[in-house]
Amino acid sequence: MLVLVIEDDDRLAKTLVKGLEEARYSAVTCRSVAEARRRLAAEPVDLILLDLGLADGDGLDLLRAIRREGLRIPVLIITARDAISDRVQGLDAGADDYLVKPFAFAELLARIRARLNRAEPQVSTRLEVGDLVIDVVTRRVTRRERVVELTPQEFSVLHYLALRAGKIVSREMLARDVWQVRSRATPLDNVIDVHISHLREKIDRGFDGPLIQTVRGVGFRLGGES
Ligand code: CA
Repeated sequence: MLVLVIEDDDRLAKTLVKGLEEARYSAVTCRSVAEARRRLAAEPVDLILLDLGLADGDGLDLLRAIRREGLRIPVLIITARDAISDRVQGLDAGADDYLVKPFAFAELLARIRARLNRAEPQVSTRLEVGDLVIDVVTRRVTRRERVVELTPQEFSVLHYLALRAGKIVSREMLARDVWQVRSRATPLDNVIDVHISHLREKIDRGFDGPLIQTVRGVGFRLGGES
């Protein structure tokens, strides 16, 4: 069982790792949101301990992002923020549990055990659309066993389309949710179209039955209509 400790307080991180290892878990630490993203893309973890105030951002944003991507790893927030509203926010963002610092290590272990015992199978880490397979954890994409190499942004677009397979995705939706830009603009539309055309090139070229459809005047759809 691998626990990812996302904590920028080095002393606390060390204490946590030591305690976890004594309890026979494997543990690795990340100090920042960026490092955590890299780590999560690189290997599957079984549980995340998440501090909220990190050097390069807020743990809650990271949590929302990984839930948006369909990752269902149990996340236990560990933070000094102790207001009811903070807890509610954390749970709303997709945390499974919330522990206020300072806490007793025995309680942390009990909560980890509870989470891991009732962890749901990671069913949603693999998305399939026709013969296209997307592994959300490893970010590996294959079509009929052939590996498709994508840039991170192309992967984000494809992942977004795959989560809505069979449904129309507009340029507005892609702009808002993938590029995180609120107002629509022609230059961004062009960027989106370029990404779609690259995806087409990589996913559909050489296969009969294109997966990426253009719905004229509206947007795009991955796979047949649902
Ligand atoms: Ca911190």
